[in-house]
Amino acid sequence: MEPIKLYSLSKLPYEYAALAPYISEEQLKLHHLKHHQGYVTGANAVLEKLDKARKDNADLDLKATLKELSFHIGGFRLHNRFWENLAPAGKGGGGAPKGALAQAIDGEFGKFERFKKEFTQTATSVEGSGWAIVTYCEKTQRPLIMQVEKHNVNIIPGFAILLVLDVWEHAYYLDYKNDRAKFVESFWNIVNWDMVSRRFDLQKK
Ligand code: MN
Repeated sequence: MEPIKLYSLSKLPYEYAALAPYISEEQLKLHHLKHHQGYVTGANAVLEKLDKARKDNADLDLKATLKELSFHIGGFRLHNRFWENLAPAGKGGGGAPKGALAQAIDGEFGKFERFKKEFTQTATSVEGSGWAIVTYCEKTQRPLIMQVEKHNVNIIPGFAILLVLDVWEHAYYLDYKNDRAKFVESFWNIVNWDMVSRRFDLQKK
């Protein structure tokens, strides 16, 4: 039998308490161990359901199943991106982009402050649960912002994902209650710009 290829939860690149006070240990543990794990479990359940139906040659509600697949894999992948593009404040987190990424942001938005303002507004105005994402269009060589609802709605297919911010309530409710704007403001203190730059440089090659 072939090994079963499924998703698994990866370890965070820092300790659970490392992003405090911007994201508390309790909040980060819950987010990673319960919510991110939930997408791992969800994605695997859909894959197993597909396998089983094919093995039994049974009918599937493909519309519902594929929607679930997109949701859970979307959630799984975006969370991986999110953990990677965060770092403890002052130890890799915070500040502003440098080098080619800084130039691209200035070229697109005029200046970093304008980019921050647009990204913040994108994040705070997500209807319900979703993400603010910096993406990159190879064709036009423009860094663009995407506003994703849930984990998979409004995605531009194939565009590279450079920076993500989770604005689901589960990402901030323990620390900020319903004050999403305050969480978004805090986020800037823990952005790992070196990681975002590395992702950007890969696209430019
Ligand atoms: Mn989340």
